[in-house]
Amino acid sequence: MQFTVLGSGAGLPSKKRHTQSYILDAVDETNQYILIDAGEALQHRILHTSIKPSKVRSIFITHLHGDHIYGLPGFLSSRAHQGGEDLPLTIYGPKGLANWLDITFEISGSRLNYPLSIVEVGHKDCIEIDNFKVHVRLLDHNIDSFLYVFKENDKTGALDPDKLKGIGIEPGPLYAEIKKADVFEFNGETYRTSDFTGPDITGRKISVHGDTRVMAEPEYLSLIDRSDVIVHEATYLDGEQEKAHRYFHSEITSVLDNLKNIDYGALLITHLSNRYEDGFLNELAKELPSGVHLTHDFFEHPILRNSQENK
Ligand SMILES: [Zn+2]
Ligand SMILES: [Zn+2]
Repeated sequence: MQFTVLGSGAGLPSKKRHTQSYILDAVDETNQYILIDAGEALQHRILHTSIKPSKVRSIFITHLHGDHIYGLPGFLSSRAHQGGEDLPLTIYGPKGLANWLDITFEISGSRLNYPLSIVEVGHKDCIEIDNFKVHVRLLDHNIDSFLYVFKENDKTGALDPDKLKGIGIEPGPLYAEIKKADVFEFNGETYRTSDFTGPDITGRKISVHGDTRVMAEPEYLSLIDRSDVIVHEATYLDGEQEKAHRYFHSEITSVLDNLKNIDYGALLITHLSNRYEDGFLNELAKELPSGVHLTHDFFEHPILRNSQENK
């Protein structure tokens, strides 16, 4: 699994940073991509990658500010001509999303050749998609903005051939049947499959924030605790904590302070204002704790299993 930042900028695009979009690449696990937010240049950014729009089967929109959604109608329309015909797509996002898309498609005379579902979500919803449960949590922004916590389903451990050989079962077609069942019989004895498997494999956890002030509620922190990856905005990077709060955004030292009591594998800082020069960003990057990254467009982060333990 991999997390890719397609647009890392806040508010206005610049030549280097486009507005917000991310891809969670779960192609190895489910042959799908999950798209999170759809900033204006989304389609152009995808053209520089190997991402196939037809394999995007779920889209999660954090909130309805333009820097997070103005690329969505174009992406949806183009997907129809990029191998997406008949391949269903579901979009999850705040109330108002369906109305906006309906009006946009009606006025522009756009027609899609695949089934599109739009699901408007709310605080504390839990959504099930292929191989993930997605927890929704309201953040603190000047319009409804959501955190999405993607929790990969746990997998049962693999069969242990040595243990099976111990009771006389050699590798063969019987293994597949044993794996499917909770109990199995062999030579007149009944066995529990769980006695012949390795430990369960814990699913990975990726917590992606929409725009927000820093939030310190214990229930929120426990929701994102032990994430393999946390994606958090820091529109402000130079100590402007009051200003960040006034504008319903976050400043980087407040984000780091807030998260220091929870465990995580990597923290990806995004939604960076364009007013910071490269020299300033390079110096700041050197001072950040290990595992914390100032992202840029096309920043890629592989999500390994148990990465929160390898910090
Ligand atoms: Zn924004
Ligand atoms: Zn916003």
